Amino acid sequence: MPLILEVALPVPLDAIFDYLPHPHTAHFRQALGCRVQVSFGQRKLIGVIVGHKQASDISPAKIKPIEHLLDLDPILDPGWLAKIRWCARYYHHPLGDTLFSCLPTLLKKGEPADALQDQIWFTTYLGQQIEAMPKTPAQWRLLQMLRQHPHGLEVSAISAQGFQSTQLHKLRDKGLIDYRQEPKLTAQVSGPLLAEAELVLTPEQTSAVQHIQQAQGFHVFLLEGVTGSGKTEVYLQALRPVLARGQQVLVLVPEISLTPQTLHRFRRRFACSLVALHSGLSERERLEAWLAAKRGAAAIVIGTRSAVFTPFANLGMVIIDEEQDASFKQMEGLRYHARDLALKYAQEAQVPVILGSATPSLESLRHALAQHYQHLQLTQRPQTNKPTPPPLQLLDIRSLKLQEGFSLPLLKRLDTHLQAGNQVLIFINRRGFAPALTCYTCGWLAECPQCDARMTWHKEPPRLHCHHCDTQQAVMLTCPHCQSEDLHPLGWGTQRSEAFLQQRYPEIPLVRLDRDAVSTHKRLQTSLQQIQQMQAGILLGTQMLAKGHHFPRVTLVAVLDADTGLYSSDFRALEHSGQLLTQVAGRAGRAHQAGEVILQTRHPDDTNLLELCQHGYSYFARRLLEEREQLSLPPYEYLAILHASGKTREQVHQVLTEMAAHLHPYIQATRGVEEADSLIQAQGLNAIGPFPAPMERRKNRYHMQFWLQAAQRAPLHETIAASLRYLRQHKQARTIRYAWDIDPWDTLG
Ligand SMILES: [Zn+2]
Ligand SMILES: [Zn+2]
Repeated sequence: MPLILEVALPVPLDAIFDYLPHPHTAHFRQALGCRVQVSFGQRKLIGVIVGHKQASDISPAKIKPIEHLLDLDPILDPGWLAKIRWCARYYHHPLGDTLFSCLPTLLKKGEPADALQDQIWFTTYLGQQIEAMPKTPAQWRLLQMLRQHPHGLEVSAISAQGFQSTQLHKLRDKGLIDYRQEPKLTAQVSGPLLAEAELVLTPEQTSAVQHIQQAQGFHVFLLEGVTGSGKTEVYLQALRPVLARGQQVLVLVPEISLTPQTLHRFRRRFACSLVALHSGLSERERLEAWLAAKRGAAAIVIGTRSAVFTPFANLGMVIIDEEQDASFKQMEGLRYHARDLALKYAQEAQVPVILGSATPSLESLRHALAQHYQHLQLTQRPQTNKPTPPPLQLLDIRSLKLQEGFSLPLLKRLDTHLQAGNQVLIFINRRGFAPALTCYTCGWLAECPQCDARMTWHKEPPRLHCHHCDTQQAVMLTCPHCQSEDLHPLGWGTQRSEAFLQQRYPEIPLVRLDRDAVSTHKRLQTSLQQIQQMQAGILLGTQMLAKGHHFPRVTLVAVLDADTGLYSSDFRALEHSGQLLTQVAGRAGRAHQAGEVILQTRHPDDTNLLELCQHGYSYFARRLLEEREQLSLPPYEYLAILHASGKTREQVHQVLTEMAAHLHPYIQATRGVEEADSLIQAQGLNAIGPFPAPMERRKNRYHMQFWLQAAQRAPLHETIAASLRYLRQHKQARTIRYAWDIDPWDTLG
C-alpha cells in the first residue's frame, strides 16, 4: 500500500486533501509540517502536510502525487499544528483556511523559510599572530579592529567603520581572517539585561509583581488597575526573571500604532532582542520576526491580535494588555479571539498569563471573582502628587438649548479650562460631519441604497458615505423627494464639532483624532507630537482618543453624548459603553493637575449611568455580572451565533428554518427525559431564531441570525457541527453565505 499524504490547502472547503508522496524523494523527508506544491483542479497551490495515512477512500489511480516538496525541514512543529487544529475545531472553521491565515505571507507564497543571514568576520590563528603589514596599511587597520572582537563582527558594522568588502576578501585570501553565516536577528546579548533602572513600586505593585514571579506553570492573573496605576511597570518587572532564564515572552496589545508608548517602554527597559509585529512591517520583516520567534532568537514578541499565532521555541510568559479590547476579536473569516486562544496556548505550554485592564471584560472578571484567576488590583496611581482619576459628573441637557451639540454649562467649563492654559478633550463617538442629512420640508433622510442605514455626511472631501458598505455619493443640493433646498445635517460628528469649536476658539489649536483625520501611522505621530508640544488646546475625536495615550495637560474631558449604548439591543452594549466612558475619563488629570469629567446626558436618572458615575466601573461591572447570571447570558452560558445572508429574505429564512427543524432532536436530546431533574434541564441547549439581524439589509444582502445558547460547551459544539454537516449537503444553502461566530463579541454583526 502506498503512503498517502494529507495536505491542508488554502481553500474555503472543510476538507483535507489526499496526495501521493513525491516519487523521487524519500518518504521520511515528506514530514508533517512541510510545505508542498500540488495541482488542485486547474490551479497550482501551496499546501502543508498535516497527516500521513496508509489508505485513502479515493482509488489510488485517481490520487495525484505532489509536485514539489518545498521544505527540507518542517516549518511547523507538531505542537504548533496541534494548536491550529484546536483553533479550527473550536471556531468550526476549515483547517486549511485556518492554517494559512496564521502563516506569514511569504511562506504562503512558497518563499524559503530561511532567515536572512549575516556574515560574521573573525581573525584566524594566523591573523592573531602576524605582527605587521607595512605594504597594506588599510588592511592592517581592519585586521587590528577585528582582533578586538574575539566573537567576530557583522559585515554591516565593519562597513560602518569605512572598510570595503574587497579588503575583507583580500585578508581572507591571505588566510588572516574568515567569516561564518548567522541569522540577522539573534538573541545573544552581551552585558546586563536591564538597559535602564526599574521604577520604584507602590506596595500594591510590589505585591502584584511578587505574586506573578512566584507562579509555577499555568496560572492566570487578572491585573485590574485604574488608568495610570502603572500596569506596564508591573509587566516589565514581572517578566524580567523570565527573560533572565532565557525564555520568551509574548505581549499582545490592542493597536501598536495607536499606543507607541508601551512598545517604547519595553524597548528602553531591556537589552534583549524584541520584535514588534504591526501593520507597518514589510512581508520580509514579518517573516524574519516569525522565524526569530520560532528559533528562540526573539526574546520579546509584541504584537496585535494575529501575533497569537507566532510559534515560540521556549515560551515563558504571556501578557495581554487591555484584555477587554474589541480588536482582539476578529469579526470575519476565522472569527477567533486572541485572548482566549492565548489562554489556551499558555495552558498547553504551562506558563503564566497576565491579563491587564483598567476595565476588565465580564468574562475575565467572572473568572477572577470565582478564583479561577488570581485577582491583583492596583487602586492607586504611583506618587502621591498624581491625583486619582476624577469622578464622572452627569450634565442633564434635557431642558438645555444645544449649540452644535454643546450645552452652555459645558461651554463655560471649556472656557475656564482653556483660559487657564490647559487642554480639553472632547469625545464624540461619530466621525464625519453629521450622522445624517435631512430635508426640513418633507422629513426625507439620506439613506444608503444598499443598506438599512443612513448615509453619514462628510465635509472633507464632501460626500455622503455609508460606513457599513462604503457606498459613496455626492451631497445633493436639493431634496430628491420634494426638491426643496432646505437640507440640513442631523446630529453631530467630529467634523461638525471641529468647525464649531474653531469658530468659537479661533486662537486655540485644535487636533482632531479619528479614522478620517488620522488615516496613517505617520499622521497619528504628527498629531500626538502636536498635542505634546502645545499648551492650551482642544483634542477632539472618537474612540481613538480613549486608547492608552498619555495627555498630561488634559484637565477636562467632555463626552458630548453619554447615552449611546445605554439602550442598545446588544446585551454587551452596556459593558462596552461602561468600559469606553471609563477609559475616556481616565485621560483627565494624569499629570499633576486634578481633572474634571463631564458627561452630557438626556437620561440623568438612568440606573446604569448613575452607578457608573457614582461607584466606578469596578462596581458597575460586578452588578452587570449579576444581571447576566440571572438572564443566563455569557459569561454564565456559552453563546454562538450563525450569521447567514442571501439575495432575498425568503431564501435565507427557508434554509435556516429547515436547519432549525433538523437540529431540534439534538436540542431535545440535551434536555434529558421529561422527568429529568432541574440540573439536567439547566444544562440544556436553547435555540433562538432564525430572525432578521439588527441591520437586516447590508450591501444589498439580507442578513439573519440563529442563536444557540448552552450551559455546557460540548453539546453546543456538537450541535454546531451537526448544523454545518446539514448545511453542506443542503442544495439551497449553496446560494447563501453563512458562518458561525463562537463567543461573539457583539450580536449586531
Ligand atoms: Zn424634501
Ligand atoms: Zn450601505
